[in-house]
Amino acid sequence: MSKHGTYIGRFAPSPSGPLHFGSMVAALGSYLDARHYRGQWLLRIEDVDRPRVVPGAEDAIFRTLETFGLEWDGAVVCQRDREQAYAAALSRLKEGARVFACACSRREIADSVLARDGSHRYPGTCRNGLPPGRAARAWRFRATPGEVCFDDSLQGRICEDVDADVGDFVLFRADGLFAYQLAVVVDDADAGVTHVARGADLIDSTCRQILLQRALGFPTPQYMHFPVVVNAAGEKLSKQTLAAAVDTLPPADVMFRCLAFLGQCPPPELARAGVATIRQWAIENWNRRLVPRQRTGLAPGEQREYV
Ligand code: GLU
Repeated sequence: MSKHGTYIGRFAPSPSGPLHFGSMVAALGSYLDARHYRGQWLLRIEDVDRPRVVPGAEDAIFRTLETFGLEWDGAVVCQRDREQAYAAALSRLKEGARVFACACSRREIADSVLARDGSHRYPGTCRNGLPPGRAARAWRFRATPGEVCFDDSLQGRICEDVDADVGDFVLFRADGLFAYQLAVVVDDADAGVTHVARGADLIDSTCRQILLQRALGFPTPQYMHFPVVVNAAGEKLSKQTLAAAVDTLPPADVMFRCLAFLGQCPPPELARAGVATIRQWAIENWNRRLVPRQRTGLAPGEQREYV
């Protein structure tokens, strides 16, 4: 809980496909944590990355959440309606010289050193001004050296030197779209989000987001990163790994398995109950301490391969 006892949580799916077991774990985990602590639970459609939007996915997400009885508070926020807020934040950063225009192409950056997450660290080419004759393509945040740390409710203390690992990161992309890192920080702050509960695949973005919050004068929410659901080959479930959409399975069955994945030990007789009964049991009995403190967890039915 925050100092003042308020809790505003959220679920922020990208409409790049229907919810699969992995995204359902993040939806249910963030919902249960919010409801257990009598908090609000907001829903935001993260469609800032237009090329990744799949027609119909947004409606499918609403239907699935309704099937599971995961009711959100207030109106759904869609990033496509939030461009003015992102533009205002970017101009504030420009005024404070916290961002700079960048002319580098992907290929130029690909030739630079590899960052921890396999991406390429920005080598700082345009940091002190555009090279002569080159036009601005994107805007980058001027990363500050030194470790940024936060205390994750599940994963413990996490630290990263963003400048050393990622370098100056993009806030406004060469294709004219705002970057996820800026959108998520502005959206969470405007909605008054106090608790961010999401998949551990986003841990590597969190320190960048904290740097941005500091630069914009926003408070940093409490973070909790759930293990990401992986298959036996260690791959995150996604459309690429052909994870089934959760609405092809009986909802009570999916919810029971999500709870088991989150370490919540639902009593076996609950497996025969309806989805509303399981959900109510889970709100009352939600226990963060039982969630595995790991970055990944095996999907139900997957066996580790021993080699
Ligand atoms: N839109 C992101 C996703 O679907 C989640 C972002 C977040 O929770 O901060 O993976």
